[in-house]
Amino acid sequence: MTVRVRFAPSPTGMFHVGGARSALQNWIYAKQQGGVFVLRIEDTDAARNKPEWTEGILSALDWIGISRGSYEGPYFQSANAGEHRAAAARLYESGRAYYCDCTREDVQARTGSQYQGYDGYHRDRGLGPGPGHALRFRTPDEGATVVIDLIRGEPTFENKLIEDFVIARGDGSPVFLLANVVDDMTMGITHVIRAEEHLPNTPKQQLLWEALGVKPPIWAHVPVVVNEKRQKLSKRRDKVALEAYRDEGYLASAMRNYLMLLGWAPSGDREIVPWSVIEDEFRLDEVNLSSAFFDEKKLRAFNGEYIRALPVAEFVDACQPWLTGTDTIAPPPWQPEEFDADAFAAVAPLAQTRIAVLSEIVPNVDFLFLASPLIDEAAWTKTMKDGSAELLDDAVAAFEALESWDAESLKSTLEAVGAERGLKLGKTQAPVRVAVTGRTVGLPLFESLEVLGRERTLTRIRAARLRLV
Ligand code: GLU
Repeated sequence: MTVRVRFAPSPTGMFHVGGARSALQNWIYAKQQGGVFVLRIEDTDAARNKPEWTEGILSALDWIGISRGSYEGPYFQSANAGEHRAAAARLYESGRAYYCDCTREDVQARTGSQYQGYDGYHRDRGLGPGPGHALRFRTPDEGATVVIDLIRGEPTFENKLIEDFVIARGDGSPVFLLANVVDDMTMGITHVIRAEEHLPNTPKQQLLWEALGVKPPIWAHVPVVVNEKRQKLSKRRDKVALEAYRDEGYLASAMRNYLMLLGWAPSGDREIVPWSVIEDEFRLDEVNLSSAFFDEKKLRAFNGEYIRALPVAEFVDACQPWLTGTDTIAPPPWQPEEFDADAFAAVAPLAQTRIAVLSEIVPNVDFLFLASPLIDEAAWTKTMKDGSAELLDDAVAAFEALESWDAESLKSTLEAVGAERGLKLGKTQAPVRVAVTGRTVGLPLFESLEVLGRERTLTRIRAARLRLV
């Protein structure tokens, strides 16, 4: 039997990191089993679906390493509406489902409780189809539904506690529970690996599989991803969109490594490992049952390590979207013609060791490309003190006299300027750095000045000096 798994997102918003993790787990499982990964877009909620979200899912998957063309699909749930209706009709004709026109108030009036489920009122009343008649599944009165779950063992649900749930609404449209089962069935899915939040649906869905006469799949319900307060990651509260991480400059390699560590770890106390190790070692049945903390700080640190491990040329390439701007990444503050690729290549190795996400490249190098630096006023006020004007004068004079404009000479020259005033290099550097780059922190100063060049450096220090008059 060929293993067939599916990833079945609903295109109702940005692509959630938890979804990306499920997709990767499905992807790896299929690969390990020599199976097939199917992508199905569950687009039946017309009010909430948008085509751009579907495109977002495809491109986010592509980015994370599940590339277009390397899986089966995408299929669209809406294209199978006929099959969903046919299955509902089969269940009705075989007596496994019945029509009901009770409102919630009707049920409450009968049961006297707000919280109880449906009471089975129409089970044997022979109501036929008609407007406003919902179709309900007749759950067995006895026995239990045992779900085989690769992560949880055999969760068991007593059938008498499962209400006769709705499978098609009053307008005849099948609900998610049924559509999802029918699609899995039609697509020959053997393993359903999905988020834990669907576990309560599973006994109902398994009953539908059985009622439709097909052997149910093996399930795996992966624990949810939570924030630092142990709350389920939510798009209203937390940064959850994979696209947001991508556009901030997380590397796909770091992101997918990190996502796979949510609730699982490779052998030997390692965390940062090549993808091939994860593909070899990952075991669904080793996934931890407790919810997994999505630690953005840790992800950031991870990303920094991945950035530092890149060959410089790859780092330079990886920075390009932030150096130019894209559809989703804001353009940098300089004009395209101001950019100098050689100057960038010269400072790239210095920046590579200092940034944790690629978008941070821009404030580190903008001084090189802008006609005049963007002055951070708070940094200016903090740094420019009594004596700064004279210090800058002396720095200009000393730099003008330099024969060779290189980092080492610049450093020893400025060190000497400071020494005359009894200042350490750090204190001497600070006003020069603010004058030239506009900031108090950044790339190593003397290498920066070397790349910026004599003329521009002197012009900037003189301009800063004038501001201090
Ligand atoms: N469309 C459902 C979701 O996004 C998929 C449920 C499933 O994987 O079975 O939650």
